[in-house]
Amino acid sequence: GEYEIQEPSDPAVKVVVRIRPAKGGDWTVNKVSPNTVSVGDREFKFDSVFDSKSDQEDVFQTVGVPLVKNALAGYNTSILSYGQSGSGKTYTLWGPPSAMVEDSSPDSCQGIVPRIFQMLFSEIQKEQENSDGKQFNYQFRCSFLEVYNEQIGDLLDPTMRNLEIKDDPKNGLYVENLTEEYVTSYEDVTQILIKGLSSRKVGATSTNSKSSRSHIVCTFIIESWCKETSSKCFGSSKTSRMSFVDLAGLDRNKDDDAGRQCTREGKYVKKSLSRLGLLVNTLAKAPHSGNSEDVPYKSSCLTHLLRESIGGNSKLTVICSVFPDNNNQSEILQTLRFGERVK
Ligand code: ADP
Ligand code: MG
Repeated sequence: GEYEIQEPSDPAVKVVVRIRPAKGGDWTVNKVSPNTVSVGDREFKFDSVFDSKSDQEDVFQTVGVPLVKNALAGYNTSILSYGQSGSGKTYTLWGPPSAMVEDSSPDSCQGIVPRIFQMLFSEIQKEQENSDGKQFNYQFRCSFLEVYNEQIGDLLDPTMRNLEIKDDPKNGLYVENLTEEYVTSYEDVTQILIKGLSSRKVGATSTNSKSSRSHIVCTFIIESWCKETSSKCFGSSKTSRMSFVDLAGLDRNKDDDAGRQCTREGKYVKKSLSRLGLLVNTLAKAPHSGNSEDVPYKSSCLTHLLRESIGGNSKLTVICSVFPDNNNQSEILQTLRFGERVK
């Protein structure tokens, strides 16, 4: 029936690469086929590659549409946006906040997350209008948090810092005291996204004042239950979550002079990204070991938080962003190797 999770038509883990348009062409990193990029004489294969010829709608069609279908089928889904500062992680996920509210035409620069919510609400509305679908009730909750120096802060209530991860045998993993807003429409969600994004911490390094020193995680929980007493599914319910993770920038410790705070931040970022790499690596080698003790979920705040979203019976998409520039060779290679290891 409706409540059975379908056989996966999609792989559990997908990795795509997006090459940010650069002046003078994509000369340090090139798309050489729909799923191959080359850097010098080294080639890397992924599920898809987007270059300057691809726009936000193309990324949405490849990454977002299957995600919405999976989420509606009951899977937990997530997107990780990985890459160095300035490579387009934030642009790809959210796009400019103004485009969320003002311009939702396919060729706008709206990011894939708002597009996903648009599709999700419109699919659900279609289902509700269709007489066969009337027996479902939905409830949506949304939270938005930041992991900064291994501490969790609430982006929807910035006075709430140092929140703790709790593991409840009945309800699973949750963050204590984190704001969860009930939402009913695309407009509600965009208000949350805009509020959360504007509260994010950015590092004040002299070289790149906008480099992101925190990971931000937007979680959207879809609960549905069957309300029609005459229906076979009456009484059953399902819950799935979507997580969108805009990771801190993978940056070398350059000679910035913003002081020791910055170096400390940099160390936390580096450590948590490498722990994430190890986690994803373990899962890639043993995809069904989701709840096994061997999976290093507790090695960092971020990996712990993502336990319900990656691994086990869930669908993960990693978007690796690269910015072609001669100074970025090592970050480009590091980003592509991360993506390669995930598969
Ligand atoms: P990150 O989040 O990785 O630090 P951003 O998403 O902030 O990087 O992108 C850096 C800059 O490049 C922003 O001004 C953004 O608008 C621009 N940009 C990134 N990717 C693209 C793209 N595919 N097309 C056009 N502009 C882009
Ligand atoms: Mg960013």
